[in-house]
Amino acid sequence: MGLKIYNTLTRKKEEFKPLVGNEVRMYSCGPTVYNYAHIGNFRTYIFMDTLRRVLKYNGYKLKHAMNITDVGHLESDADEGEDKMLKAAKRENKDPYEIAEFYTNAFFKDFDMLNIDRPEIICKATDHIQEMLQFVKEIMANGYAYETSRGIYFDISKLDKYPILSTRKVDEQIAGARVAVDEEKRNPEDFAIWIKAPENHIMKWESPWGLSYPGWHIECSAMSRKYLGEEFDIHTGGIDHIPTHHENEIAQSKGATGHIPARYWMHCNYLQVDGGKMSKSLGNVYTVSTLIDKGINPLAFKLFCFSSHYRNNINFTFEGIEATNKAYARLKEGYNKHNEGTADVSDSIVNDFKAKFEEAINDDLNMPMAMGIVWDVIKYPSKSKKLSELLEKFDEVLGLKINEIDKNTSDLPQEIKELIEQRKQARENKDWEQSDILRDKINQLGYLVKDTKEGMAVEKA
Ligand code: AMP
Ligand code: ZN
Repeated sequence: MGLKIYNTLTRKKEEFKPLVGNEVRMYSCGPTVYNYAHIGNFRTYIFMDTLRRVLKYNGYKLKHAMNITDVGHLESDADEGEDKMLKAAKRENKDPYEIAEFYTNAFFKDFDMLNIDRPEIICKATDHIQEMLQFVKEIMANGYAYETSRGIYFDISKLDKYPILSTRKVDEQIAGARVAVDEEKRNPEDFAIWIKAPENHIMKWESPWGLSYPGWHIECSAMSRKYLGEEFDIHTGGIDHIPTHHENEIAQSKGATGHIPARYWMHCNYLQVDGGKMSKSLGNVYTVSTLIDKGINPLAFKLFCFSSHYRNNINFTFEGIEATNKAYARLKEGYNKHNEGTADVSDSIVNDFKAKFEEAINDDLNMPMAMGIVWDVIKYPSKSKKLSELLEKFDEVLGLKINEIDKNTSDLPQEIKELIEQRKQARENKDWEQSDILRDKINQLGYLVKDTKEGMAVEKA
């Protein structure tokens, strides 16, 4: 069975086929590095990671680019407000490039803790100003854009259809718009592709229209073309990108090259907190560090994300993540039991589990269903190495480091150390029942136990 994915562009689940051979060319909208990324943002990157891993599992070779936005993303996606980078530079009294470097490093630190695979190409907006300028010039030359006193605007009336990615009506946007009408724009929905910089603006570059800077949407159009070509396979992002950012990327590419840049458009739904939006004013913007401070393993957050399909929203609560943290410990423990098991399990049982898992991941990344199969394997009563090897295979997609144990116990809490000592004693006395009770107690406190040749290894789940 082949891989099926939901395409926002056609609003259908489609059979996936790369445009050329066995290589998948994919572009993902990356972070705007003006602050720490929150766990909502990371839900979208975990989705991106799972997609990468599923594609690889299916034997495809990847050429995947992700951008780092370090200029041009204004406070509102629709060209209003201050540049987020400059606002952060003022807030922290630093140079915008320092801000970008600091938060890019913080982003990748969290990225690695979540065991998200690095895309083959990471491209920074400020390194590609010339490519963006070239893109703008082509749109202008083809008659799809015009100059105003504020910048270069894309003329949506030149397109055969706008919008095509979202179902929103242009008129609704106008009626509900809070922003002042720009008299110079030909159509209210026209958007800036190149912005003239005010006198005191820090990030600006020479152009035929004076010192200016790129609009946010043009960066993705220019960089995806540079690295992946005019037409590539998959474009990903969060659902908030559908109505403006991705819609406008499509418009720009049509204006410059005549093509919709990607064949499949995939979008991850929101992570909500306590049933609502994550927002600074509600004080519920959580990061990977928040989780670590509360004793949650970042990979338990990845497992938490697998509890909902990426096209549905998911509600984050501390109760929920604490339960998942314990489940993550049980998952590793279950893997260990199979790894130490000596039972024989028939190939048909192993193949049946494998087929069901593959059916789930290939059905538009149905991770809740895939995890159901994983738990069936974990709970399988006969403990066999064949099943721990199968779980290792599944982990190529899950990226949960299911088989990794940290042997360093020096910084464990006193309570855990005491339980470890009691368990050692029980094992020396060959009191296996007591040993198992103590193992469960340690697990309940959020730690994993593995009996290895070198002795007992314990780590935080
Ligand atoms: P930004 O750095 O603001 O451009 O956002 C980075 C990515 O996170 C984008 O793909 C957004 O669509 C996505 N995103 C933002 N908020 C959430 C959320 N609460 N849940 C899931 N994804 C989100
Ligand atoms: Zn983008």
